[in-house]
Amino acid sequence: MEISFYDFEKLHDPSLKKELSQIFSKIMDDNSFIEGPYNTLFEEKFKTLQEAKHCLLVANGTDAIEMSLKVLGVSEGDYVGVPGITFYATAEAVINIGARPVFIDVNPKTGLLCERSLQRIADEVELKAIVPVHIYGMPANMHLIEAICQKKNIGIVEDAAQAQGTFYLDSKKPVGSRENLTTFSFYPTKNLGCFGDAGAILTPSDNDANLIKSFRNHGRGSNSIVGRNSRCDHMQAAVLHSKLPSIEDQNKKRKAVAKSYFERLHDIKEISLVPEEYLNHSSWHLFPVLLNDPEQKEEFKNHLQKKGIATALFYAKALCDEDALSSYKKSSLGEWENSRFWAKRVICLPINPYLTETQLDYISREIKSFFKNIRAKNLAPNKKANSPQVSIS
Ligand SMILES: *Cc1c(COP(=O)(O)O)cnc(C)c1O
Repeated sequence: MEISFYDFEKLHDPSLKKELSQIFSKIMDDNSFIEGPYNTLFEEKFKTLQEAKHCLLVANGTDAIEMSLKVLGVSEGDYVGVPGITFYATAEAVINIGARPVFIDVNPKTGLLCERSLQRIADEVELKAIVPVHIYGMPANMHLIEAICQKKNIGIVEDAAQAQGTFYLDSKKPVGSRENLTTFSFYPTKNLGCFGDAGAILTPSDNDANLIKSFRNHGRGSNSIVGRNSRCDHMQAAVLHSKLPSIEDQNKKRKAVAKSYFERLHDIKEISLVPEEYLNHSSWHLFPVLLNDPEQKEEFKNHLQKKGIATALFYAKALCDEDALSSYKKSSLGEWENSRFWAKRVICLPINPYLTETQLDYISREIKSFFKNIRAKNLAPNKKANSPQVSIS
């Protein structure tokens, strides 16, 4: 059985294709390629869905982080905290405005920013801002993070690129509904994806919204600032607008897949799942699993690949170990022990709204048979046992 990681064929079904062909044709007739009516329509609907005051569409998720940091006044030489487990772009946005990323360690059970590490680092370094990431779609503990940041006047940009469909653990409200700038990416593989690049910023502040409108469009408006081109084009806005009505249903289906994985995989002692309390709060953009013995990861991946099951190594390296970021790795400034622990062990199983029970049965059967074979090998006489299991502390 072939199980791919994403399922674009089912996502972009004939009725969506037909609807969009008509819309694209109209856009061509109208020559309304940039910031057209669908931009405004989508912004209105998206801010309502996420319970935010303002939504500003921009060119991509990385620009969204960069411009949000600028709104917070981050500039050259400032220190900005980023979690040790995230997509590279989180740090890239910091570096591209001349600021310096400081790596904050993660919780070894979730890969989410660790508040205790943040507290220690904030006591040592003057952080201008931090970018907590709702990684894999799980909500970062914003109420704890905000408490630390308020005391020290540290700005917050929530990176919600993977978190359309995520709800906070404390308020149970959608990501983007707090008093922080929150950024999204609509890259095609994200839960809500367009047919190219786009991103968005949510903010409760009229002033922020006004600044972002200028930034994204060459500084136009009354702010007298040097802006850039980070507009979202009209066709992408139209795609997002057409896909928006089905997103809640799709996210529900992802949740059902995640629930199914929990039921099927929770009793395998060689792997650890993220805490089940996230089941109803994660967008389930990805489904991470930790191998207790990191030595088994390669073989595990190969076994599933042979059986036609795609997996992905998000993220195989802690952010501090990315070659391009090595010059920012100073032990006097950051922490990364748990990030490395996580990166060594994590592997993501396929998750999308269209996985069937039959496919999930097949995946879990193959996972179980892999570990059964390993156990049998280790028990065989004259065979050296695998390295001891490392448990998460
Ligand atoms: C995808 C992603 C981004 C970047 O978004 P782009 O639209 O590709 O620029 C940033 N942060 C995280 C966590 C992401 O997953």
